[in-house]
Amino acid sequence: MQLIPVDWSALDGSHQRVAVEVLRHGPLPRAELARRLGLSPGSLTRLTRPLVDSGLLVEGTTEVHLRTGRPSLPLDVQPASRRFLGMKITGDTLFAVVTDLRATVLAEHTVPLPGPEPETVVATIAEVAALLREDDRDAVGLGIGIGGLVVHHREVARAHFLGWHERVALADLVHTATGLPTVVDNDVRALTAAEHWFGAGRGVHSLVVVTIGVGVGCGIVVHDRLIEGAHGGGGSIGHRPLLGGAVCADGHRGCAQGMISSGAIAGAVTQALGRPVGYAEALELAGAGQPAARRVVDDAGRALGVLVADIANLVDPELVILTGDGIDLVAVARAALDDALEEHRSEALAPTRIDVRPFPFTEWARGAAAVAIRAHVLGDAFTPA
Ligand SMILES: [Zn+2]
Repeated sequence: MQLIPVDWSALDGSHQRVAVEVLRHGPLPRAELARRLGLSPGSLTRLTRPLVDSGLLVEGTTEVHLRTGRPSLPLDVQPASRRFLGMKITGDTLFAVVTDLRATVLAEHTVPLPGPEPETVVATIAEVAALLREDDRDAVGLGIGIGGLVVHHREVARAHFLGWHERVALADLVHTATGLPTVVDNDVRALTAAEHWFGAGRGVHSLVVVTIGVGVGCGIVVHDRLIEGAHGGGGSIGHRPLLGGAVCADGHRGCAQGMISSGAIAGAVTQALGRPVGYAEALELAGAGQPAARRVVDDAGRALGVLVADIANLVDPELVILTGDGIDLVAVARAALDDALEEHRSEALAPTRIDVRPFPFTEWARGAAAVAIRAHVLGDAFTPA
């Protein structure tokens, strides 16, 4: 019998396909797994036997009755068998989580970032990693999510909010400092990876994730591949021109950032009312019918509808997920959003399926952990799933 070590990265292509399918969609009855992968029952048995013998896959204890009425033991992974660290870096804070193999958050930890220099950021990551590894079971991979241009899961080409304008080989620096296999990704793409593998996008082949908050971001999955782009900037829709007259920090009139970001909405309501108004209060005032706030929030909702229609027309995804730390906008501006979406969506295409996801702030760090999980099970951080 062919001996397969427990390590995911040592699997060849066909064993890996089986294991990843079970990781993403399990527990799965054998017949269902064979159908999904287009394999005969014999081929599936030949592929799964060494995976079960090595303990990488386990047979479930619950019988699943198939349409034929015959019972079948489902195959599954052991989510608790591996631990991963995920970290999100903002301008002043590091958010960290520990997850299992299915990106379920087991623990979280947040520390202030003492400074933006690469060496300070790496040292803080190493301190938090050491803290989170003081446990009976160690992590096998670390993922870092960062707002900026990230190439090949290793280098940060540009991170404006940290003042990084030169390339920083962050994955290698962190690997040296922690000894943990490390991958880096753009934070929105990391979030998209988590939704695609372990979230609302499970089982979907074409997916768009639009994030609303301090920035406006977008992650795009086409034919099961997450778009990185030639320079790590795939999905950067923050300054896409939309409707409206607001001007963003870069001087664009009516761009997504200038219309939809939490800072733009708070700023416009502040200006209209002649007193400082935060994002949450701006949404609250709009919800209560304050006319100026209502107008600003409806304008933002309409702009978001145009943006979603635009991306949906371009990509034609099965699903659009709206999320991010500013997601509360959607509840207050839903009517304006839906009107603009319907108006601008190409009539020839099917209606866009929209899923609005709540956003605990640990989602960013969880996304980073999902990138580490993918790198671990695919055995190659450069291989798109
Ligand atoms: Zn702009």
